[in-house]
Amino acid sequence: QVAVIGSINVDQILHIQNLPQPGETIEMTAFSKAAGGKGANQAVAAARLGAEVAFIGSVGDDANGQFMHQVLTDAQLDLTGVSVNPQEATGQAYILLQATGQNSIIIQHGANYALTAEQVRSQASRLQNADTTVAQLEVPIPAICTGFELAHEAHRLTILNPAPAQDIPEALLQLTDIIVPNETESTKLTGIAIDQPDGLRANATWFHQQGVPAVIITLGEQGAYVSTRDVASQVPAFPVKAVDTTAAGDTFIGALAAQLQPDLSNVISAVRFASMASALAVQQNGAIPSIPTLTQVNQALHQ
Ligand code: ADP
Repeated sequence: QVAVIGSINVDQILHIQNLPQPGETIEMTAFSKAAGGKGANQAVAAARLGAEVAFIGSVGDDANGQFMHQVLTDAQLDLTGVSVNPQEATGQAYILLQATGQNSIIIQHGANYALTAEQVRSQASRLQNADTTVAQLEVPIPAICTGFELAHEAHRLTILNPAPAQDIPEALLQLTDIIVPNETESTKLTGIAIDQPDGLRANATWFHQQGVPAVIITLGEQGAYVSTRDVASQVPAFPVKAVDTTAAGDTFIGALAAQLQPDLSNVISAVRFASMASALAVQQNGAIPSIPTLTQVNQALHQ
């Protein structure tokens, strides 16, 4: 069982040729709407990849909130911990997607930022029943700290994906068993560049010194670097032709949470599984639609 404390957004995708200049008016070439938010993406990934998932988050009392409720219900998540906040709009991400494939994103956090520690505490039994609790940084840090404290009281594992990149308090690091940043997020927190001799090891050591026992730094098509008390090694990515890397990291984290044994004894094989899940995801368009199923990942791993 996995609990996710995280964000729920509707992605409003504006397809454009090029970004408008200041003062310029342009037209979009197409528009699409999709389910998103790092929390929702990771929760759906964990559910598709074999876990029973309880979600803790917050939406507004609006059509976007209902849309997301339906998407997450279809993904078989337990949504008892999702509160409807009448004062705030459901979170939205306005994604300006250029013809080159580059995107620029503007986020309205809305109800995500209204998630309180009390709301998380009201879900204590779900957190304490989950083997693993996962969080990202698109909901308030006090809510995450409360969730991680409850998980620890029940001797459960906590996974923090420190995304989007931002500084985090030492207290949260001390409640984190496994931190899973990408390169940018890792360097933002440690202040240590990765592309220098021993850069990966130096980044991991920084986190260990802050009290985080396990570090997994994702490196895009270079794979992932794993550092625990017992292991320090780089697990290569699967060589594939990527068409859309949206949610690669979210698929990786959801997959990891679904597969990891609480004692971390299978960390390398769980990372290999997560790498395959995200390698399959980057070969499809979109975020949630691109996340593969458990059967698809197992088939690909045993081919
Ligand atoms: P984020 O999306 O958070 O920036 P990364 O780009 O590091 O995260 O990707 C997360 C994981 O997804 C990587 O560790 C890797 O396993 C997989 N992945 C990402 N891009 C590719 C790619 N082009 N080919 C194969 N695997 C990829």
